[in-house]
Parts: sequence; C-alpha cells; structure tokens
Amino acid sequence: MAIKPILEYPDPRLREQSTPVDVFDATVARAAEDLIDTLHASRSIGLSAPQIDDRRQILVMDHSQDQSSPEVFINPVVLSKRRYGFVEERCLSVPDIKAMVFRPTQIKIRTADIHGEFSERELEGMPAVCLLHEMDHLIGKLLADRINWFKRRKLRKALAQKQAR
Ligand code: ZN
Repeated sequence: MAIKPILEYPDPRLREQSTPVDVFDATVARAAEDLIDTLHASRSIGLSAPQIDDRRQILVMDHSQDQSSPEVFINPVVLSKRRYGFVEERCLSVPDIKAMVFRPTQIKIRTADIHGEFSERELEGMPAVCLLHEMDHLIGKLLADRINWFKRRKLRKALAQKQAR
C-alpha cells in the first residue's frame, strides 16, 4: 500500500491510452490499493491509474463521507447512457480549475473487479458522472479539453505562475 504522486497537466503521460487488464494478478490488486490510498489521501472521490503513472484500465471511486466504501472498476465499458445534464467537475490532475461539463447522469456499465469477475452496474448522479470522468483519463482525455477559451487562459496563467515559483 502506498500513496503515489499524482501526475499533473500538461504531463504528456496523461495523454496516453490505457490498455485493458488481461491478467488479474497481484500487480492489479496492488495498483488498486495504491489508487485507493492515493484517493483517500487527496480527499477526492475518483482516481484513475494513468494519474499515478500506470497505463492500465483501472480506476477507483469512493463516494462515502468517511472513506469507508472504496470501489474498484477494471476494464469498464459503458453499455447505455441517458439524462444528460451540466455538472461541475474538478480533477486532481488539473488542480487549478473547475468546469461545467455536459454528461449523462444515468449510465449502465460492465466492469470487472480485482478478481476478474465481470458484472453489470447501474450508476446515477455523481457516481455516474465521476466514473465517466475517470474513464476519460483511460483514453487520455482531460478536463482541460472541456473548458472554454477563457478558462483555458486562466489555466495557462496558473501554470505559468507555478513554473515561476
Ligand atoms: Zn480527473
């Protein structure tokens, strides 16, 4: 178990495609544990493997108040989506912004657990939106791509200030 450093925009590693897990071995379980530890340490609700420099299709979420209910999703696939709406999102890898994103808020997914057992799940509201955000990371897509010109300018300024420090 370990808390890992989180890669931040514009790190090019965040742009790479993640590959599906085909062998559900101890390295997968360890990656899931590291993701959960890192998620809890950062007091967030979702984190994907590419954010801790692991290009496998693994992500975790915990929507409980007391960090008691971490869940692991491996090789997730969206089967259906509906009820689109605007939701405010933040990202641990793009820490300087929040953005309104247009997304489905009800989804049906197929996902594996750490043992490679597949199941279908229905998610609604924040868990649905969060899962889709984390799935974006698996294909190298970032919140920074979903913001308007004005916010992108603000993000560039914040990055320049950080580099100047
Ligand atoms: Zn994110």
